[in-house]
Amino acid sequence: MTKTDLLNLDRGAMEAFFTRQGEKAFRASQLLKWIHQQGVTDYGAMTNLGKDLRARLAADTTIGLPEILHAQHSSDGTRKWLLRLADGNSVETVFIPEEERGTLCISSQVGCSLNCSFCSTSRQGYNRNLSTGEIIAQLWIANRELAAFGPNPRVVTNVVLMGMGEPLLNFENVAGALRLMMEDHAYGLSKRRITLSTAGVVPGIDRLREVCDVSLAVSLHAPEDELRDRLVPLNRKYPIRELMAACRRYVDGQPRRKITFEYVMLDGVNDSPRHACRLLKLLERVPSKVNLIPFNGFANAPYRSSGAEAIDVFRDILIAGGIMTVTRKTRGDDIDAACGQLVGRFQDRTRRSVRLQAVARDLRP
Ligand code: SAH
Repeated sequence: MTKTDLLNLDRGAMEAFFTRQGEKAFRASQLLKWIHQQGVTDYGAMTNLGKDLRARLAADTTIGLPEILHAQHSSDGTRKWLLRLADGNSVETVFIPEEERGTLCISSQVGCSLNCSFCSTSRQGYNRNLSTGEIIAQLWIANRELAAFGPNPRVVTNVVLMGMGEPLLNFENVAGALRLMMEDHAYGLSKRRITLSTAGVVPGIDRLREVCDVSLAVSLHAPEDELRDRLVPLNRKYPIRELMAACRRYVDGQPRRKITFEYVMLDGVNDSPRHACRLLKLLERVPSKVNLIPFNGFANAPYRSSGAEAIDVFRDILIAGGIMTVTRKTRGDDIDAACGQLVGRFQDRTRRSVRLQAVARDLRP
């Protein structure tokens, strides 16, 4: 019999697990607190559980934590962990400390199927979805490494699903992990402190609204379909009009909520004042803010980042049009931990880098 991995169980699943065992449902809260608040994985130390129950848990269940293959510490305080999963695959997780908060950037898939032309994860192709346990384990490990379990003050105050993968293409497992992040007996983060970033999976956006409406970030990157089709090929399936309509539905009836639009600044590709004006027009009817992301390079990257001046001009056009706009600071650059640089360890079986160079040639002005 395969053992149940307790990290995979959100509160509902944990209660069902205990009821099936003839135990009271409140055991779920006890277990969740031990594992996710105290960071305890040794059943022997779970002192409010009876001896018999502890023995049964030890026999029938596991707490499947990945192993840290490699840890890196940036000069700006950013930390990156390469985690080895049970099947030998690996994913990356990044912690970004700021004055008022600490943000953990976590992965939702091994690799990614979307093939965005400016993203290094796309080069590794798609391997598989992460389980709920593998997603929440990234938060667990960060808490342990940052000594943030138990009575210590919260160190990870915010979580962003902006690492490797497209979270809305791994909906069920991501939803389970989101519920654990928000669960009082686990991590107790409010939905405002959790941001899911999507390349624009329209049906997923609608489903998320029903299931757990955390903050939504959308990787837009272009204000016109023709260009967006090339940067984010998913656009061919869900074009900008449909994406914008889904964004409006997401915040409908919630006057204070906004969608964050991410826009990677690519020199000579999507960064002209004309693009900024088109973007303004597009965002007219969606409560929004914009994050401009200077392009982060990687080996054989087919683009260059826009210069600081072009980014400022672009930002000022948006601000003059009434859109709250910030340029995202690049963090962890010296350890390849910045946006779009997370790759895990992989073999380039698909010869994507060759294909990417061809894309780059097409896109050159
Ligand atoms: N699949 C999701 C989440 C992963 S990407 C999504 O597309 O939103 C997280 C963010 O990093 C996205 O906005 C993505 O477009 C951006 N990004 C990817 N590669 C980048 C790069 N090389 N430089 C800057 N930002 C990048």
